[in-house]
Amino acid sequence: MSFEDDVKAEAFHLGFSLCGIAAAQPQAQHAAVYEDWLTAGYHAQMDYLAAENARERRTDLSLTLPGVRTVLTVALPYPNPTCTSAPPDGHLRGHIAAYAWGQDYHQLIPPRLNQLAAFLQTRLGLPLAHRAYTDTGPILERAWGQQAGLGWFGKNSCLIHPRSGSAFLLGELLLSAELTPDPPWKADRCGSCTRCLDACPTGCISPNRTLDARRCLSYWTIEHKGAIPVQLRPSLGNWVFGCDICQQVCPWNQHAAPSTVDAAFDFTPEEAFPDLLDALHLSSVDFNRRFRRTPLSRAKRRGFLRNAAVALGNLGDPAAVPILIQTLEREPEPLVRGHAAWALGQLHHPHVRPALERAQSADPDPSVRREAAGALAAF
Ligand code: SF4
Ligand code: SF4
Repeated sequence: MSFEDDVKAEAFHLGFSLCGIAAAQPQAQHAAVYEDWLTAGYHAQMDYLAAENARERRTDLSLTLPGVRTVLTVALPYPNPTCTSAPPDGHLRGHIAAYAWGQDYHQLIPPRLNQLAAFLQTRLGLPLAHRAYTDTGPILERAWGQQAGLGWFGKNSCLIHPRSGSAFLLGELLLSAELTPDPPWKADRCGSCTRCLDACPTGCISPNRTLDARRCLSYWTIEHKGAIPVQLRPSLGNWVFGCDICQQVCPWNQHAAPSTVDAAFDFTPEEAFPDLLDALHLSSVDFNRRFRRTPLSRAKRRGFLRNAAVALGNLGDPAAVPILIQTLEREPEPLVRGHAAWALGQLHHPHVRPALERAQSADPDPSVRREAAGALAAF
């Protein structure tokens, strides 16, 4: 076994399913596509992506790790998003993207990459500078994955491996040591398939294998902190955190080999498909207790309840009317009250109109009064 094979064996021992090595050379072509993506405004309000120092570090890794020679990329598998469906128990259920069905990957991947760096340092017997990343800095993660031979950019913008599909999270280890690189992935295995483009509910997938975040449900349900545009709300369906549609329809996921998923991603049906009526009852303490160690903490309680209200409106079941009226009248967050008003406007029930009229005239927040007026107008 070569030294590089030993390093990969250690990565697999740490729970990573893929590991590849690339020389830390400029990724000019990918960086140019990324710059065009920013210039087009496709990053929505994620201004940190367009910050000047982030742009510089993205094209010059030595600004992040002086003397960097190698980028080692790993993949941590999460449950295949095609493998489960909501329990048929009659509850009104939302849907959470599969990567978030367990512990937050930001807590899982960096410690293991640092363990891998310690292994390398011991084996090399030399001082080794390193930096670990997983979606935590300006790194062209997919590009390094492709350069390290882990797969190709699918039309849905995910990195796809022919055996594993795309249900994995990427991490990178920048190293001052020189390791023998793997051959980059060259083939495009999407061929003439367009399933992801056809299935995306908002049509936000671009021809150059990027997404317009301004229309992607993952952006609106996770990153965006304010109101969701009214015209986009029906597209959410029952997604309350992220969206897996463009991965669910992908044949490379539907036929992926079963992978050993880390115990940190063990999930219950309730974690994947939360009860939406219960969600609207969550206090701040309940929310933190339940989601503190999961990616859902990024949306915060107000974002999660906002999404749950929209999902209840989309499901169209009048059974949600009492809890939505209670939310409209008692919820402290105006953002949630406003989306509850919109959801009520989607439901047909004799109690809805009087509740919306009360909110339109008496809610202390002007945004909620506007939402109630909009819901009444569409009634
Ligand atoms: S995550 Fe959903 S909304 Fe975003 S590109 Fe994929 S299918 Fe479209
Ligand atoms: S659904 Fe088809 S086009 Fe889209 S990423 Fe998968 S293989 Fe490629």
